[in-house]
Amino acid sequence: MRLATAEINISALRYNLARVKEMAPSSKVMAVLKANAYGHGLVKIAQCLSDADAFAVARIDEALALRAGGLTKPIILLEGFFDPSDLPILLANNFETVVHDESQLAAIEQSNLDMPISVWLKIDTGMHRLGVEPAQFDGFYRRLKQCANVKPAVNLMTHFPCADDINNNFTQRQIDLFSSIVSGTQEALCLANSAGVIGWPDAHFDWVRSGLMLYGVSPMLGQVGTAHQLQPVMRLKTRVIAIKQVVEGDRVGYGGRWQCPKRTTLAVVAMGYGDGYPRHAKQGTPVVIKGQRYGIVGSVSMDMISVDIGYNEAHIQVGDEVEMWGPSLPVEEVAECAGTIPYELLCNVTPRVSYEYCSE
Ligand SMILES: *Cc1c(COP(=O)(O)O)cnc(C)c1O
Repeated sequence: MRLATAEINISALRYNLARVKEMAPSSKVMAVLKANAYGHGLVKIAQCLSDADAFAVARIDEALALRAGGLTKPIILLEGFFDPSDLPILLANNFETVVHDESQLAAIEQSNLDMPISVWLKIDTGMHRLGVEPAQFDGFYRRLKQCANVKPAVNLMTHFPCADDINNNFTQRQIDLFSSIVSGTQEALCLANSAGVIGWPDAHFDWVRSGLMLYGVSPMLGQVGTAHQLQPVMRLKTRVIAIKQVVEGDRVGYGGRWQCPKRTTLAVVAMGYGDGYPRHAKQGTPVVIKGQRYGIVGSVSMDMISVDIGYNEAHIQVGDEVEMWGPSLPVEEVAECAGTIPYELLCNVTPRVSYEYCSE
């Protein structure tokens, strides 16, 4: 019997990519596949995204795994390369690199490359993480254009820290600043992450970089993916492995953190932080059994969680399936109960969980 399982719905994934294209009809789509495709399985997900124009990852190893898996689309390294010795690997595998600081530019200028490399120059328009300062743009751009090691088209990008909040006009200020910085060029422009795609049509330009929304999950504050006609791709499920009666005053789980207020029945389910379920999920965080929601009680253990199914819940039995998040229970909601964001829950799913890919 399969216990902790992540069921991955390929039809939903493809549908979500089509939704990205519907929302940003004039833009090419870079499918963001970093962190094991947000916990969904890197190569398998990439294989199902044949309609994407390019893939984006954070690390060279992720890009190499895509090539080893037979994927031939353009791959963009969102943080660029980390050492001059990486450059031959980039060229040999046809990876495109972000350039965000002087050390990278100098390495490209000083290398002896057999072929020119494709570059995405990243401008910091206010996130203050990666990117060249607006005042440095002209110098970087000129040097890249003049460098024989760089392909003639120098793509230009920036990143949004607050696009999930449509009431925060910081994003519009970034769009305006970016537009004024790049106005003298004819290059391909790329600004929008998923929140930019959903909330900021002015940010779509030539390319969008969609991660979370491909997996059917909303990056927008207080909204779930289905509000944007996205379909959840992952269903994290397991089974009930024991049923136990408890009475008023009984303490449940490590530390006796939960004390039973009145006689009830607990279903013990085979899922815990060892599978990536958040240990800090609060009391009452929902799970779904037989189409109905029940709340977790006590502390989340490594392999198990107790669920209060109420007194007289005789219809729930050992072996019954339990959905921890998925189509019946948005991961956005579980993340909220655990004081985190859906991104973290998805990429924390551990290798102990088995993966089932299905199309329906
Ligand atoms: C992760 C990432 C994205 C994708 O963000 P989502 O919110 O998942 O769409 C886009 N751009 C950069 C630079 C990223 O690091």
